[in-house]
Amino acid sequence: MNELTSWIVSFDTDQIKNYIFSTNRLKEIRGASSLLLKLDRRRKKWIKNVVPGINEDNIVYSAGGGTSVLLDNEDQAKKVIAEVSRNFLDKTVTATITGVLLPPTSIFELFGQRMKQAGEQLRQAKEAKAELTNLPVEPYLHLCHSCEKYPAVEIMAERNNELLCKSCAVKRSYGDRSEFYQEFLKYVKKQDKNNQIWKKEMLPKDLDTIGKVAYPPGYIGLIALDGNHMGNFLNKLKKKEDYQEFSKRINCLVMDQTFTALKRYGQPRRLDTESYVAPFEIVIMGGDDVFLITAADIAIEVALSIAEGFEEGSKPILEGADMLQEKITMAGGVVLAHAKFPIPAMYKISEELQKSAKKICAENKYQTGALDFVVVSSSDTDLEEMRSPIPHYRPYLCKNLRKLVNYIRRFKKEEFPTSQLQAMYQSLFAGKINAQLAAIATLGRLCQSQDQKKYKLLRNFFKDFDVAFNGQLPPWTEKKITALADLVELYPFIGKEGEEK
Ligand SMILES: [Zn+2]
Repeated sequence: MNELTSWIVSFDTDQIKNYIFSTNRLKEIRGASSLLLKLDRRRKKWIKNVVPGINEDNIVYSAGGGTSVLLDNEDQAKKVIAEVSRNFLDKTVTATITGVLLPPTSIFELFGQRMKQAGEQLRQAKEAKAELTNLPVEPYLHLCHSCEKYPAVEIMAERNNELLCKSCAVKRSYGDRSEFYQEFLKYVKKQDKNNQIWKKEMLPKDLDTIGKVAYPPGYIGLIALDGNHMGNFLNKLKKKEDYQEFSKRINCLVMDQTFTALKRYGQPRRLDTESYVAPFEIVIMGGDDVFLITAADIAIEVALSIAEGFEEGSKPILEGADMLQEKITMAGGVVLAHAKFPIPAMYKISEELQKSAKKICAENKYQTGALDFVVVSSSDTDLEEMRSPIPHYRPYLCKNLRKLVNYIRRFKKEEFPTSQLQAMYQSLFAGKINAQLAAIATLGRLCQSQDQKKYKLLRNFFKDFDVAFNGQLPPWTEKKITALADLVELYPFIGKEGEEK
């Protein structure tokens, strides 16, 4: 089939993250994620229902909730859209998928440009649909206990007669098994046949379980990461085969880096006398997208490690595709909060953080990845409210966050008095001058002690985070921000152990 004279049909799942993160229950989040992954694979079969003889090679990709396929004619294209949409809704009950069709055209020379047009059309169709779906819901007798959105239809006898809607019940039915965790186990086994560290039964049963084995106790991290400016790379691909190859390699790279990071930092932890638990859950991993829930103390390391590894690993992929750019970078958000904090709110915050990280990636012409993070300490769910009172250094370029993490380790190794850090931190709330007085007083005191190590450490920290010291006083940089706020807030979430990079 000629890729320029064929019809392109492209699909994308609507509000995929809202569907997954609409509940606080890990089993339903996992179930939704596993179901969507199964449906990514199932779509091939649905397409074959309509076009039995189709060459699988005409399926450009099917991952991360989306699919693109090349077809012979308009009739086929329309039937495929109808078949896939119907089956998808049938399986998920509440999630929908949007499909668009693109007629053959000769105006584009590159396959990537056609795919870009399909993507554009898909985006518009999805936006139009989103407006339609916000219809008022009838008041029902009982709302689902889990999503509080749809009418309850099932009683879960094994869970205190909890009432669930059909959609949540379906999610729950898939929630005992994580497709991604299975993949992770395979990956670990492949690397080391005798590896018996992670086991099937170590899948956490709920978010509290992850919190229980975390440090500080009760805290979890939600990590959201994705590739920067991906469309810019995909557009330039000449042929369908290039596109397939590129998508496949990006997919593999993301998986590889995620698994590598989890293998390194996500060692099973003792839950009680009998059992161990893997301190993480892979929620989304498809295309250039990753969403993970982890024990709070590994979240920053895991996110950084994936972003750094992705950047490095993208180089040969770009080279293989004859691209001029050197690398693809990632932007991400990490939310650190108590396991009881509502997941839908946590997810929303992570997206805002990701946007803020993308902003400085753009300022740096996407030449470097970035992460933003927040420690949620109140029941506030508004990001701006949460961190408005004090000037901070966030978002961080990856290399700067690595530097911050290393400094936290050094402060811990040096047994720097946390009371002094706290005092300087508190003074940040009392205005610029008071913060200066506190920082200078601390430096002065440390300078007079016999052992100059702590003094040098604090001074170097300020210096390394843009405090010039030539008339410009710590903790402030020229822009009147300070990394001190971030150092203190992140302090409890970084272990003393662990190597410096
Ligand atoms: Zn529900």
